[in-house]
Order: sequence, then structure tokens, then C-alpha cells
Amino acid sequence: MRADDADGRVARLDLGVLAVTVMRQAVAPWTARFTRAPDAGVSETRRLSIGFNVVHVRGPGLSVLVDPGLDDPRSRWGRRYAASHPFTRFDATASETLEGLGEDPGAVTHVAITHAHLDHVVGATVDQASGLRPRFAHARHVLMRADRTRPRYDRDELGPDVAERLACLETSGLLDLLDGPAVLAPGVAMHPAPGESPGHAVVEIEGAAGTCIVLGDLAHHGDEIRDAALMPEGRDPAALWRSRMHWYARAADRGARVVLAHSARASFGRIERAPGGRFEWRDEVGA
Ligand SMILES: [Zn+2]
Repeated sequence: MRADDADGRVARLDLGVLAVTVMRQAVAPWTARFTRAPDAGVSETRRLSIGFNVVHVRGPGLSVLVDPGLDDPRSRWGRRYAASHPFTRFDATASETLEGLGEDPGAVTHVAITHAHLDHVVGATVDQASGLRPRFAHARHVLMRADRTRPRYDRDELGPDVAERLACLETSGLLDLLDGPAVLAPGVAMHPAPGESPGHAVVEIEGAAGTCIVLGDLAHHGDEIRDAALMPEGRDPAALWRSRMHWYARAADRGARVVLAHSARASFGRIERAPGGRFEWRDEVGA
């Protein structure tokens, strides 16, 4: 069973014991330069409209958030971000949307961070006059170790906003670094899928009624699924290609519902095999 709200902010999927909700935090225009694997030699600029989506998984005794996402637009970071990205339209923080769905943000048991890029991490903390504190204070936060110190191929350091938040989680004893696949809870597993970043991961959710795969930024939009060689600059083309081939095939062969962190609307799509070893993307919003 699926239900989508009218303007694309929330989409829900019932997998039996597990219920998955995609929550959009913001929409924004995105202009990026794209290359094509494997030589990454051809470059083109694309202008897209993207969303910023996080995912919640509810199960018995289980409340998992996949990506803390963006911080509150009223926070110091949020005001700075809004000033430098004036066309970003914020919907709600993850905690506000959880509350709206009747979920207690304080009861989140796990936060799976797909990768340590700013837009996936800054919401992990609340910015108070006394400093940062973890937003999900009772949750185990998990991140692939490879992203702890170098989440970008073109930079050998964390940006200050990401560094401060990961340090806060570590100081609070809430951050677990993973070296490989891990089962976070029954039916919820995190798998390395490098290429967007060295430690990028996807989350696979298996319920009695089907499978949902949260691809994170493995593909930012459907064109990167239909044309798997298409990727934004600054990635590792060979690693991203391998990760895409594995996960696109797995999603297609399992008939999984697929979530993209940056689809313009909160949605569950499907990946299907197409002739010539290619893949097709079907965004199921409104289907
Ligand atoms: Zn992202």
C-alpha cells in the first residue's frame, strides 16, 4: 500500500511489519557539471530541480532515520545556507515531519548516514546557544568509516559544518563507524556503495510485503539511472559505475521500490532492466 501527499512532501510504503516514509525537507534548483564514465572526459552543465529527502522506517521497537538531512532553516547554519542559496524552499526538518506523522523524534533508535556530505549530515544536531547537541539523542548513528575523514574525492578534509557535527556525535558516544555491510536491525541493512563519496552507502529494507532500497546519492535523478555513465563531476567514475551496476541490477531483479535522496518529490520509484544492459527509471508518484 502506498500513499502520497498532494504536493510531494511525504510518501509512505507499507512493507508488512515495516513501514517506510520518505520525507522531503526542501526543494532547490541545482546547476551541476556532469561527465560520463569511464573517461570522465566529456562535460556538460545541467540545470535540475531537486528535492532533499530523508527516510524513516518504523518497525516493532524500531525507528530508523536514513539521513538526518538538512538543519532547521532558522538555525545559524540554516540562515547562512538560505543567504547563499536564496532559491531553496524549505518544507520541514526531519523532526517536524516525524512529529506530524505521530512519530516521536526522541525515540529514533538508529540514524543511518548514507554519506558525509553537508546536505545529509547537518540535521544530525541542534544548534543551541551553548553549542551543538545531537538531535536524536538516543539513536545509534552509523556511517562508513571511509567517509569519516575524506567524504570527497576532490578534497582531503571535511568541511567545517560536517566536521563539527560528526565530532559532536562522537563526543556524545553516538557514532559507530562501519567497515562493511551491517544489519542495523531486523530487515534494515546498510551496504557500502562507493563512488559518490568513498564511504557512500545504501540502505536496504526488507519486509514481508517487499523490498525498498534507499539509494542515497548513487543517482541524483532518473537520468543517472537511464544513462548510468552520467555522473556529476568530482566523483570516482569507476567506483560509481560499479556501485550503480550492482544496485540498479539488484533493485530491478528484486522488484524493489527505490528512493532517491534528491528526487524532486518524495516518492518510491522502480528500476527496470532495458535492452543493451541498460536500465529504466519509473518514478511512481501518482501511479
Ligand atoms: Zn546529496
